[in-house]
Amino acid sequence: MRHLGENFQTNHHYSDSLYLYYHAVKTYTLEEFNDYFNVLKERCPSAAACLAHEVGSEKWSWAYFIGNRFNVITSNIVESLNTILRDEREYPVAAILNSIAHKFREIFRKRYAEVDKSKTIFVPVAEAILRENMTEEDKLYVNNINGSTNEFTVLGYGCSAKVNLLRWLCSCIQYDLVKLTCAHAMAALRLTHEGEYNTSIYNYSSQIYSKESYLLSYLELICAVPLELEWSMT
Ligand SMILES: [Zn+2]
Repeated sequence: MRHLGENFQTNHHYSDSLYLYYHAVKTYTLEEFNDYFNVLKERCPSAAACLAHEVGSEKWSWAYFIGNRFNVITSNIVESLNTILRDEREYPVAAILNSIAHKFREIFRKRYAEVDKSKTIFVPVAEAILRENMTEEDKLYVNNINGSTNEFTVLGYGCSAKVNLLRWLCSCIQYDLVKLTCAHAMAALRLTHEGEYNTSIYNYSSQIYSKESYLLSYLELICAVPLELEWSMT
């Protein structure tokens, strides 16, 4: 996404309209996406054509993204590796591998310790999103659709959203993609899970964000490559 933005500036010379591109990237609904992208098309036709037809909107916009979006885990991994291993490029191969192992062991240790000492149910970044959604949820009003126990209309901020708790869907699309309860789903949960509202927020979110899942991912030991003399050649 950032590379496309840089390309937008360098090759198409539309720096003044770059904010439209980033807004189009980060909106969840097609309506909002079109609001930004239509202005972009008027101001920067060549860049917009390239983004829509050569790159493909599903590759860079959240609104067109297919599948689940767990951006807190996979964001920019190639760039990150490239940066932390810059000096190692000149080393002999065994030294490169050992250096990679050492750095990753250190990262795994730090991340494990950081999350292990937190008192929250989900990892801090997911907790922050949930807190933000909870603040928004406070001002919403919920309506049952035809008395259904799973489908609700949520009103507030001058617009409405449709939530399906059974299928973990919301017309705001944020819930569908990120799999963390959005403000609308939270409002529906407050109505249906009165006494267990706080727990239900976590139960209706993906457990991939749980502290346990995170700790499990960083539990593996990473070993350095032994000296060649110690290799077992069986
Ligand atoms: Zn929603």
